[in-house]
Amino acid sequence: MSLPSFEVVRPRTLEGALEELERHGPDAQMIAGGTDLVPSLKQGLFSPRVLVDLKGVRELDFIRFDREAGLELGALTTITRLAQSPVVAEYFPVLQAAAKTVASPLLRNMGTLGGNLCLDTRCLYYNQSAFWRESLGYCLKKEGTVCHVAPGSSVCWAVFSGDTAPALMTLAATVRLASPRGEREIPLRELYVNDGWVRLTKRHDEILTAVRIPLSSAGWKGTYKKLRIRNSIDYPLAGVAVAMRWASDGVCQDVRIALTAVNPAPRLVEAAARLKGKRYDPSLVDEVAHEAIRTAKPLRTSASTMEYRRHMVRVFVRRALNEVWANGPHC
Ligand code: SF4
Repeated sequence: MSLPSFEVVRPRTLEGALEELERHGPDAQMIAGGTDLVPSLKQGLFSPRVLVDLKGVRELDFIRFDREAGLELGALTTITRLAQSPVVAEYFPVLQAAAKTVASPLLRNMGTLGGNLCLDTRCLYYNQSAFWRESLGYCLKKEGTVCHVAPGSSVCWAVFSGDTAPALMTLAATVRLASPRGEREIPLRELYVNDGWVRLTKRHDEILTAVRIPLSSAGWKGTYKKLRIRNSIDYPLAGVAVAMRWASDGVCQDVRIALTAVNPAPRLVEAAARLKGKRYDPSLVDEVAHEAIRTAKPLRTSASTMEYRRHMVRVFVRRALNEVWANGPHC
């Protein structure tokens, strides 16, 4: 498989990047680390005429912690820098835990936070060569009319497989989107659409420039659990992020649980609210872990079975809650 031909433009400022996107319209596609996009280009999943290379836009590469505003992360922050940041490790451990599991060290050196959040959805019938897909008549997400995972479905069930998004959702993060018309900031959960084809609410001419975590989420204890075939490199088959804070008497004041790789979008688990105002109780943890399965809707989009992935969501929620609670003040 070889790369198709395209033109590469390398703006040095955000303004320049926005101009390039506007100038080339739907013919243009953004690239930053390229760790996911380049293999996809080789597979013929995208065919842009112009690639807007954002790596030279240094103003989007920063980590800033302010004791009033919270943490701000530029979209070009590499996953390695995120995983090694002392501020992230001290105040937002769930994010550090998730960043450490992304792909492999070399890919973390290249991959960016913005790229990880805007990752294309994945499916066994989609992430294949053009030859392979053509032999099957393509599918709904790209060039075809039928979903091979759920024939008759009008939506695509390819899964979102980013690791940092669920961690950031447990921290109530927001994302900033810039376009030629100005900026807007939205909760991270509103960036996603639970349809593997539509994927994002971000418009084509918008660039995700930064992520903000409010100060109210600083200091929450957290962890991230990930199921994958090869622990050294793979995308998740299921991922669970948990973040929690307690009162000094050991009562849970707030908790969020988020899932990845089991739906077309990362999702928060509503049943987590049952833990608020409660002391540690293994049977309550079991109950919430069981309920989390209702939020996970994996279909046959990967080499693993949907039953195993749903089962592991339950196991991971239980393990993560037990682990996090063990770090809190004891009741
Ligand atoms: Fe294609 Fe269906 Fe897989 Fe989506 S879930 S990529 S439509 S086969």
